[in-house]
Amino acid sequence: MSTGRLTIDLDAVVANWRALDGMTQCKTAAVVKANAYGLGAENVAKALFKAGARKFFVAVAEEAAVIRQALGQGPEILVFSGHMRGDTDMIRELNLIPMLNAIDQMAQHFETLPGHPFGIQLDTGMNRLGMEPQEWAAVAELVLDQGPVLVMSHLACADEPDHPMNPHQLDVFRQLTDGINVPRSLAATGGILLGPDYHFDLTRPGIGLYGGHPFEQATPVIEIDLPVVQVRDLAAGEVVGYGNSWQAERPSKIATVSGGYADGIFRAFSDRVMLFHGDQPCPLVGRVSMDLLTVDITDLAETPDRLTLVGPHQSVDDLAKAGKTIGYEVLTQLGARYGRRTYGK
Ligand SMILES: *Cc1c(COP(=O)(O)O)cnc(C)c1O
Repeated sequence: MSTGRLTIDLDAVVANWRALDGMTQCKTAAVVKANAYGLGAENVAKALFKAGARKFFVAVAEEAAVIRQALGQGPEILVFSGHMRGDTDMIRELNLIPMLNAIDQMAQHFETLPGHPFGIQLDTGMNRLGMEPQEWAAVAELVLDQGPVLVMSHLACADEPDHPMNPHQLDVFRQLTDGINVPRSLAATGGILLGPDYHFDLTRPGIGLYGGHPFEQATPVIEIDLPVVQVRDLAAGEVVGYGNSWQAERPSKIATVSGGYADGIFRAFSDRVMLFHGDQPCPLVGRVSMDLLTVDITDLAETPDRLTLVGPHQSVDDLAKAGKTIGYEVLTQLGARYGRRTYGK
């Protein structure tokens, strides 16, 4: 086997959902968009359903098919992008709950699927999805008459606890929704950590389930290890890889490892991360190429068969930092080439 191995621990996902659920007095949904942040929506949804999750959020209606198939008719599947033209059949057949984002989506929904459950998404300042406060003021009475199952908004800066945008959006959300008799949701992972004022009736964690920042106490969910394809000895002064970007300062041993940017190991990691043999760090040297990495194993006493990229000594967020990005992007870019091993419930 010459592809990398991506190990996904569903018990850790469940433990993270339970831990986030335990931080609030309200209900906790699970966000499984983008194939559960790249980790496999079917397996993740099944495991969380067994653990008690009954509401699942996806970004677009198409993502719901595999989840409805896996979970049957019981649980609610809610769609952030709402009811787009072309979604009607899917929303009806898969029994989805669109979060309506604008007046034209409402018209679409009420005309094509009268009586079908829906929720409302409000914009409280992020200016991405949801109805503007003035729009909401114009239609709130009419919409509330139709019995939405949820009213939600989304925080733009929740991973920065001291950011003034957080209390600002909370205040706007309250002004728009206080006194209505509909369940409310504002918090994703970051919002849960901001405390009870942000929890309302339902939280919507995603990244925290998958072990990522800002849920620092999360149980790690994935490991990645990569097979060593070849090992060679270099004399001092020899160079490695595209662009000759690394040069040996001493006689060196270089392992060529299967895995590259086609596997979500970004070029930006070049010379900035380690691979591990047990507890021993081995620097990634030279440029990351599409399918291969080169690793300095000079200081190892033995030649390893595999090296660990994500494990106890280096997290997804460590990689993200090295690549000047966020854990969300690292996870969702992991790619289809890994041998995936999913274990747990
Ligand atoms: C992605 C998303 C979430 C989940 O956010 P995390 O930061 O991953 O917890 C919740 N709500 C909305 C609207 C989202 O787009």
